[in-house]
Amino acid sequence: MQRAADLFRAGSKVVGVVPTMGYFHEGHLSLVRLAKQRSDVVITTIFVNPTQFAPHEDFSRYPRDLERDARLAESAGSDILFVPSVEEMYEVPYQTYVEVGGLTSVLEGKARPDHFRGVTTVVAKIFNITKPHVAVFGQKDAQQAAVIRQMTKDMNFDLKIIIAPIVREADGLAMSSRNVYLSPDERKQSVALSASLRRAEAMIAAGERRSLVITGEVMQMIGAQPSAMIDYVSISQNSTLEEVSELRSGMTVLVSLAVRFGPTRLIDNTVVEVR
Ligand code: AMP
Repeated sequence: MQRAADLFRAGSKVVGVVPTMGYFHEGHLSLVRLAKQRSDVVITTIFVNPTQFAPHEDFSRYPRDLERDARLAESAGSDILFVPSVEEMYEVPYQTYVEVGGLTSVLEGKARPDHFRGVTTVVAKIFNITKPHVAVFGQKDAQQAAVIRQMTKDMNFDLKIIIAPIVREADGLAMSSRNVYLSPDERKQSVALSASLRRAEAMIAAGERRSLVITGEVMQMIGAQPSAMIDYVSISQNSTLEEVSELRSGMTVLVSLAVRFGPTRLIDNTVVEVR
């Protein structure tokens, strides 16, 4: 892969990379299409990265379907599929990690310690292997996007990060490879996540400025679902991810949440400009 990447670079091709864990849905494919618009050669990577999963999480049962993914990636414009093995990526004895500070201590980082260290380590490795000019990530993982931007800047990676909007099912549920874990009943209840975010947007547009009132309403809507267990509902500054208690005009805030349905943990978010 590294040699291929060198050849593309030498041939003055603009290289775009889309790092993923596979089991593609329209969200992933939208990233591939965007990468294709911004580059000549698109490398899509599929790697279920063990270092970003905690021992109790779903690493071993994470859904996988490489044949289907290969077909879909190609149809969306991907030129090369890079599917390394765990042994290749973490050759024993593996000893080096990339860790971003501040931004990783809140939200997902609080709920999943070590998660972002795994993400930034593997993304840094993918950048070094594929040598892209452009890398595309999804707003679905808002904090991940912020953390990767920070790492790219701090580590002087010479590439542009592009963040693609969240792709949703017709009823509003943010697409995720993990949605397949939901039972039919949980799937129905899960609509409350996006519905509550739309409600938060409406409250802010109508002039509500107290974060607790907004998050309280979101929690009530989600809490009304019998199987939902809320991890967090948060309103933070979009740029720093610092919690905001009182919204002010001109702020851009990230309303984000994580909710468990049994063993399935879903996240969603919306970015709102406060008028
Ligand atoms: P994953 O395979 O879940 O690690 O996701 C790979 C990339 O796809 C990440 O940059 C995600 O943020 C992005 N992604 C996942 N779901 C969506 C979605 N519904 N809409 C847009 N991007 C997404």
